[in-house]
Amino acid sequence: MEKTTSSLISIRGLTKAYGTFTVLHGIDLDVAEGEVVCVIGPSGSGKSTLIRCINHLEAFQPDSTITVDGIRVAPGPALAKVRAEVGMVFQSFNLFPHMTVLKNVMIAPMRVRNTPAAEAERKARELLSRVGISEQAEKFPGQLSGGQQQRVAIARALAMEPRVLLFDEPTSALDPEMVGEVLDVMRKLAGTGVTMVIVTHEMGFARQVADRVIFMDGGRLVESGTPSDIFDNPKEARTRGFLRAVL
Ligand code: ADP
Ligand code: MG
Repeated sequence: MEKTTSSLISIRGLTKAYGTFTVLHGIDLDVAEGEVVCVIGPSGSGKSTLIRCINHLEAFQPDSTITVDGIRVAPGPALAKVRAEVGMVFQSFNLFPHMTVLKNVMIAPMRVRNTPAAEAERKARELLSRVGISEQAEKFPGQLSGGQQQRVAIARALAMEPRVLLFDEPTSALDPEMVGEVLDVMRKLAGTGVTMVIVTHEMGFARQVADRVIFMDGGRLVESGTPSDIFDNPKEARTRGFLRAVL
């Protein structure tokens, strides 16, 4: 478990294939502590696969390396430690339907960290208030709007006090009127120094919140830069083509 880098996340030569079909072609990426990185690119370009590899929800070629906080991401005993440090928010919320909102946020610290119930509840209520839904604590996920459910999912991820939060299109499944409330929560988090990697189609959000924007296409990291580099002055033809189509 030696520290190999000063980056919080370090990805070297990340290659991933499904059978003979290569989805990621040697991605190199570093994410610094406190950095907000937005990943953009067309559907099928490998964005989800990239971030799912970071906590080994997807296996990848063994000669690729990913480290999180200096810990090599690989099958084995260290993986639980990586996963405790990496929070994930999905497009489809993935809350536990049979548990109250409060319980959803309490459960991981209690099970994984042996946090006492009273302490987990105090923390959960604080987080629910931080994402603006403290009044929904005793409800079940099915009684909440999509935007509220996604805010619970963010509170649940934060409950483990992760070093980094990964978001995979967190607003893509939401009705348009609920996108803003979730982006507002994420914007607030970014402002408090939480390290985040966000796959998103919300270009306005990426421009406003990202420290760095990464454009992927065809399983390659085509271009990376500040929001202004990417949106105002893209160097690569593929980046320009994508932005023309979506903006
Ligand atoms: P994105 O998130 O950018 O839309 P994905 O990472 O989901 O892209 O997918 C990248 C490519 O990998 C796509 O061509 C997709 O069809 C393929 N892919 C994803 N999951 C699987 C799988 N389980 N088996 C085979 N191919 C897959
Ligand atoms: Mg995806």
